[in-house]
Amino acid sequence: MSSTIKEANSFCYNDFVATIEGFAGNYKTDINKEEYFGFPVETVLNIEKSLLSSKEKSVAYFSMEFGIAPSIYNSFHQKRPMSEKNRFFTHEVFSNDWICDYLFKVNTDKMLDIPIYGGGLGVLAGDAVKSSADLGYSVAGVGILWNKGYFKQNFWYKHGQIPEELTWDPSTYPGLIPLKNIVKIETREGPVHLRLWKYYVYSYDKKHACPIILLDSNLKKNHPSFRKLTDQLYRSDDVWWKIYQRLILGVGGVKALESLGYRIDCYHLNEGHAAFAMTEKYIHLDKKSEFKKYRKKFSYTCHTPVAAGHDRFSIADITRILNDDYAQAARALGKETENSDQINLTYMCLNNCEKVNAVAAKHGEITRLQFPDFASKIRSITNGVHMHTWLSMPFGDLFDRYESTLGNWRKHPENLKKIVELKSDKQFRKDIFAAHQANKKNLIETLGRWGLKNDVLTIGWARRIAGYKRPALIFHNVEQILRIAYEVGPLQIVLAGKAHPNDDIGSAHIEEILDHIDQLNDHREVIKVLILENYDTYFGKLLTNSVDVWLNNPLPPFEASGTSGMKAILNGVIQVSTLDGWVVEAAEDDIGWIFGYQHSGSVIGQEMELRLDEDSYELYAVLNEVAKLYYQTNREGDIDVQSPWIDKMIHCVGRSAFFNTQRMMQEYKKIMWQL
Ligand SMILES: *Cc1c(COP(=O)(O)O)cnc(C)c1O
Repeated sequence: MSSTIKEANSFCYNDFVATIEGFAGNYKTDINKEEYFGFPVETVLNIEKSLLSSKEKSVAYFSMEFGIAPSIYNSFHQKRPMSEKNRFFTHEVFSNDWICDYLFKVNTDKMLDIPIYGGGLGVLAGDAVKSSADLGYSVAGVGILWNKGYFKQNFWYKHGQIPEELTWDPSTYPGLIPLKNIVKIETREGPVHLRLWKYYVYSYDKKHACPIILLDSNLKKNHPSFRKLTDQLYRSDDVWWKIYQRLILGVGGVKALESLGYRIDCYHLNEGHAAFAMTEKYIHLDKKSEFKKYRKKFSYTCHTPVAAGHDRFSIADITRILNDDYAQAARALGKETENSDQINLTYMCLNNCEKVNAVAAKHGEITRLQFPDFASKIRSITNGVHMHTWLSMPFGDLFDRYESTLGNWRKHPENLKKIVELKSDKQFRKDIFAAHQANKKNLIETLGRWGLKNDVLTIGWARRIAGYKRPALIFHNVEQILRIAYEVGPLQIVLAGKAHPNDDIGSAHIEEILDHIDQLNDHREVIKVLILENYDTYFGKLLTNSVDVWLNNPLPPFEASGTSGMKAILNGVIQVSTLDGWVVEAAEDDIGWIFGYQHSGSVIGQEMELRLDEDSYELYAVLNEVAKLYYQTNREGDIDVQSPWIDKMIHCVGRSAFFNTQRMMQEYKKIMWQL
């Protein structure tokens, strides 16, 4: 033991570069004794020492996806040229101004985000690691290097969404390094070898970092069918893919940490996908009853109140793939009932992790209803967003100008709650509206030729396309939305979102939206509607900080938390929302308008019963109010600074003091990790 501590302390630059595969050939132009892709290398050596040392308490955070968004935050600098495959030059748009769609594209010559995320779960995981770095926590992320990412989205009118394979080049992606370490999982179908990669996530002040360890099966020595296992995130053609991908994350992840020599005190499983991590500990125990001692070391965050979100596999499928010892461990840890022939990964986590959390107060309530046997241990820790990633420049500048009230808000995001002290400051009210208009101008310039206007009420909706999120609700009765546009004031609506490539219903929703947009062709003088292809974190940031109103209309109680609205309130963007997810905790704080069906009681209800007629009726009534107040506040650029609209903007920012991942990680540490 003591020799390892000494080793951890003396870990130096040379030890570090010795771990990198192909350092001399590929990486020495960007990594040297001072710098790691333009960032301080010292920071990397410090976190490595900490993870290697048994004196520091360290946590491994497992997640199937990580949205790190280097195109919008902490981009590495690279001298070695990057493959063109890692750039994203243009985005296509579908709008009710066909001529524009035909002639123009949105120019976004930007780096492709490291394409190892699909949506909100991954963005949360990325934000969690970023805030861990900001707080100087000794945390290593564990995930998978998806060689083909998630997918590239194309819209086809009258068809909906047509997915296309995405290709990128990990070997020239800035900041991503391959390690010499290779780990092996034995299965019934032969060994799966996994290369480890690393990506460091730096803190906002670059004084701390946390590595994310990524597993990759694309190795020559693997059987050809195994090489594809880490191609596509959430590939779900059949259970074979699903079981292997989960085996790689869970078992491969624990083996990866051991191969690196990291001393891990807590394994935090972000969603049930990583549950097999527990089987890796289990199989090495002489006395299986000793697994009890590991229960304290595992904690689990449950994200979904939708039944289909919980992974279940038949024992027959499990034993076809897993070696006997793993299969036996899965049976011991993950059967729903004594006689069940299913392994349920959610159940495996609930049963064997001592600490369990849901991702918002309301979601905690629903999860306890769903799993009454575990009700007493299910707590709620509300999700957040990483302030430094999602805050726009104009708002950062605004906060700096009012530093005498907000103090060191970069270090202490909770300080933003003090912003309400400025509510009666007329200059501040003017300034916050101006900061918002600057963001809106940026959106309008990015969308260039579509000719959006700065003083027209703009509504945004962007998220994963899924039934319960009701993506087409605002178009449910086109007559109604047109009535508002003609009678109260013009409207601009900007949408984006991907459906899972195998999700036909999701694709049908996109088709429906395209149809509605087409129907509005003759009305583009009063209403402009755009839907952007390939929603990603770049557009996530652009849209959430620039529209006037962020629309969030999931069917309660099926939205576990939702995070895009948190990005919006941070930038003073007002909410129009149903009462679900995180919004329940801020609904009394005048951050916008709440409408629609409200869930209560002990029956969860039907996800398919979408209540489109009733809820769209209420939505139009609310939008009528919203448009009235907007056009009283902004009369073609003449701003009424005393308007209650600006009060709402200020309340939004004030409330964002709570909905950030810094607070979330502090709660994880205090409540979940038992270090
Ligand atoms: C924030 C974000 C999400 C999550 O949005 P929800 O409101 O939770 O649905 C999904 N995708 C991207 C690209 C995001 O930036």
